Amino acid sequence: MYLKLIVIELKSTMDQKYKKIVMKFGGTSMADMDCISKVADHIERELSNGTLIAVVVSAMAGETDRLISLADQAGNNMQQSERDVIISTGEQVSSAILSMILNRRNIDARSIQGWQIPLITRGIHGSARISNVKSNHLENLMKNGIVPIIAGFQGISEENRVTTLGRGGSDTTAVAIACGIHADLCDIYTDVDGVYTSDPRIIPVAQKMKHISFEEMLEMASQGAKVLQTRSVELAMSYNMPIRVRSTFIENDFENNTNSTNIGTVVTNEDGILEDKVVSGIAYSKSEAKVTIQQLEDKPGVAAEIFGNLADNGINVDMIVQNISADGMHTDLTFTVQETDLSSAKLVIESLSNTIKYAKLEESKDIAKLSIIGVGMRSHAGVAAQMFSVLAENAINIQAITTSEIKISVLIELKHIEKAMKALHSAYKLDQN
Ligand code: ASP
Ligand code: MG
Repeated sequence: MYLKLIVIELKSTMDQKYKKIVMKFGGTSMADMDCISKVADHIERELSNGTLIAVVVSAMAGETDRLISLADQAGNNMQQSERDVIISTGEQVSSAILSMILNRRNIDARSIQGWQIPLITRGIHGSARISNVKSNHLENLMKNGIVPIIAGFQGISEENRVTTLGRGGSDTTAVAIACGIHADLCDIYTDVDGVYTSDPRIIPVAQKMKHISFEEMLEMASQGAKVLQTRSVELAMSYNMPIRVRSTFIENDFENNTNSTNIGTVVTNEDGILEDKVVSGIAYSKSEAKVTIQQLEDKPGVAAEIFGNLADNGINVDMIVQNISADGMHTDLTFTVQETDLSSAKLVIESLSNTIKYAKLEESKDIAKLSIIGVGMRSHAGVAAQMFSVLAENAINIQAITTSEIKISVLIELKHIEKAMKALHSAYKLDQN
């Protein structure tokens, strides 16, 4: 009886009609006139469903790169504020193009730039943070039947200057607008049809997930971050705004099926997900490098000195492993950084040789990080043990381990990554949905 009730309740929330949504279209969806006309079809479909919509667009594919190189030719890094004026124009163009195409179809649409909303930001140019979205203007337009076509990626600072939100920032614009106008959902239209249990290029049997929690999405960095800007997921999580990742180009999505549960992947809070799987996804990274400091003095302050200096130099450290000292005086310390930071990390450590004594500094780029992710881990024991035994059965050695409440990451030799991913993907029954 209890179970039946839950099922009925779940079904009714899934069948619910979204009354107000944000539709965001990325660069590949805005790439050319053919693509933009598909975008217009999606908008037309939602309007004919009676949905209240606000649209957010990215610049046409490749345009932001072109503008960045123009800005680089014109100026230097000291001129970030003018640089933002240049690189924000890609979205200005695409918002007006889409509005014109919609107008030609007799849809009342109007381009809106960040400053016209206004979407107010703080922090530095080039990676400004949204501090406030004034929703009155947008809501008035929508009430009067005008579809706002909002230029993503840009805002305006307290000093009244144009700002940009960092690469991929239109996703964050879309989520911020959705929160501002109290939308039911933020639809992110892109060139993939959802988030997968693992990278389909490595695991061809990877499955599209129907749902993923905000936290899992944040942890699925290797794939997730390519689909959505991380900050947009953080913002959605703090305001509990569901995001649906879906494709602009899949034909049957053009049908009148806005509320179908088969579309895309919904990124939502855990409560909305009834999942029997303990592990929901497998992520990897080949871009990290490992540094080992051998025979490091074992005394208070050493780790603070090393990691403090790395941080001061803008070097992000990911995994850290320190052995228990066998002789009570020395220990080995291993950590990973992005490969691109490896040489600076070594320089930082070497520059500390006056204060910090060690025998040898070793490095390796021949490593990969593999992570299993799932909110189900919170309530299940033995997940790590199973992971380690699958790796052992495949004769794969683990060099370092880190865990969080919903993620276990291991460092392994690079050449084993595909074998390890495949073995774990099937061990955790992700091959079948
Ligand atoms: N056009 C910007 C970029 O390419 C923002 C975005 O597309 O989200 O990074
Ligand atoms: Mg993007």
